[in-house]
Amino acid sequence: MNRRSLEREAVLAAEYVLAESDITPGDRVPVFDLIENRGIWLSFEPELDRLLGVYQRIGDVTGIAINTARPVALQRFTAAHELGHHELGHGSHLDAEATITESAHDPKEIQAQTFAASLLMSELAIETRLEHRGHDPDRPNLSAIDVYLIAAELGVSYQAAVTQLRVLHKISFAQAREFAKESPLRLKQVLLGGRRPDNPRASVVQLTFADNRREIVLDVDDEIDVALPEMPASGCEWTLPSAIGESFVLTNDRSETTDGGTGEMLFGRARARHVTLRAHTAGRTRLDFRPVQPASESQDAAPLTIYAVTRTAPVSEEGRGISVNQHDQLLERASA
Ligand SMILES: [Zn+2]
Repeated sequence: MNRRSLEREAVLAAEYVLAESDITPGDRVPVFDLIENRGIWLSFEPELDRLLGVYQRIGDVTGIAINTARPVALQRFTAAHELGHHELGHGSHLDAEATITESAHDPKEIQAQTFAASLLMSELAIETRLEHRGHDPDRPNLSAIDVYLIAAELGVSYQAAVTQLRVLHKISFAQAREFAKESPLRLKQVLLGGRRPDNPRASVVQLTFADNRREIVLDVDDEIDVALPEMPASGCEWTLPSAIGESFVLTNDRSETTDGGTGEMLFGRARARHVTLRAHTAGRTRLDFRPVQPASESQDAAPLTIYAVTRTAPVSEEGRGISVNQHDQLLERASA
């Protein structure tokens, strides 16, 4: 099979998995759930030597191990790669960093890489995110910040998003080369008005009124930067969600006239208040930002509501071993 046919087969396999699941296009793909739902044993190891992931098949028993010493976005990409080996009927594989993130020559690695990118960043998911951010999905004119924000929402690394946007012809080779020189940490700091994220490896997601009543999927430690319009003349202020101090931590609260370094005016001449929250615990949280207006004002001042779903990898407190979801199942089998 030539490279094109190999890739086509892998894209179809990923599309098949997505079609079978009930994941909303453009949301982060819960790849650990997909693995567990297939009855594949999932385990986590902080010391996998130089390996990022392992796929093992012994008879009917299949297992995937993930190196937890790496950022969660890379763990997710590795998990998707190993699931690719499974779905495409490959045998056992030990994957070092190069076979996960760099251009591969082995046909099975080409397929697993294509599967992982297509599963976590399908064309539909990318186009959904582009449209949501006001870009023409066929001919988007993207900045490095735009690419970063797509990566953050899809829960993949910035570099993985650069590569996939080029594969899908959303950016040119020349743009991809330029974007690849950017530091994702610097882009996060731009979005946070210069501040370093509490956890430099976590993602920063930017939300505006365009995200009102949307469900957003996060990992623990990810930060959301919420832009709220402020009109100092009329005295429009905001009360912040009551979840602050529980499932979310307030990390910053600042005012500026433009949007996080992109130079784009948010609401005409209105100032924007940026409230930054860090996801503290896993679970579902409704975040309500309510405007407080003087009684004399009768203008439409709607609240901004975000439904946040914060997840963690199903790894034990010790940070290693079988998935916490599968732990009991394994004990039952052992005692049977
Ligand atoms: Zn592989």
